Amino acid sequence: MTAKELVKKVLFIEILKGMALTLKRMFSHAVTIQYPTERRPIAPGYRGEHALAKNPEGKAKCVGCGLCATVCPSQCIHVFREKGQVTRYEIEVLRCIFCGFCMEVCPYGAVVLTENFEFSAYTKEELYLKRDRLLSNWDKYMSGRKGEEYFRKFWHPLSDDLGTPSGQALFKGKKS
Ligand code: SF4
Ligand code: SF4
Repeated sequence: MTAKELVKKVLFIEILKGMALTLKRMFSHAVTIQYPTERRPIAPGYRGEHALAKNPEGKAKCVGCGLCATVCPSQCIHVFREKGQVTRYEIEVLRCIFCGFCMEVCPYGAVVLTENFEFSAYTKEELYLKRDRLLSNWDKYMSGRKGEEYFRKFWHPLSDDLGTPSGQALFKGKKS
């Protein structure tokens, strides 16, 4: 230990520094808020509880292709189809890491992460989200302009972006 460190230790310099900071903060504006009566705005593109998107006619957009389930790193999405129809779509939300891959990979913009973060529960079963709840989450949190803006701002790599970027080197096969 150096002499400087020894002096610091003996005189409790770090503790005094901490106390001075506390004293200073006591007379400044509080950074905490009285949640839930007071709330901060939610960051745009926040990844909260899932929802299954509906088209303007009110029908589920999901076709049950299973891409989201394949890409999900937590393997917490389960999609079941029968005779061409999606019969079950379920998310074990306790295993979800909210990475957003499901949303990013879906070719139909059919699954989203809403801005709802207040979905704590007392049982595991309540956090096993089934299709009906996921569809009603769309109505609750994402319907109308909100859903449209969400896709336009954050999850745009749909058909518009699938063209060849300008300056891209292209392979041209030989004509036989
Ligand atoms: S949410 Fe999208 S990716 Fe997942 S099964 Fe439905 S259509 Fe396919
Ligand atoms: S956000 Fe990520 S972890 Fe959660 S369901 Fe989607 S792909 Fe899986």
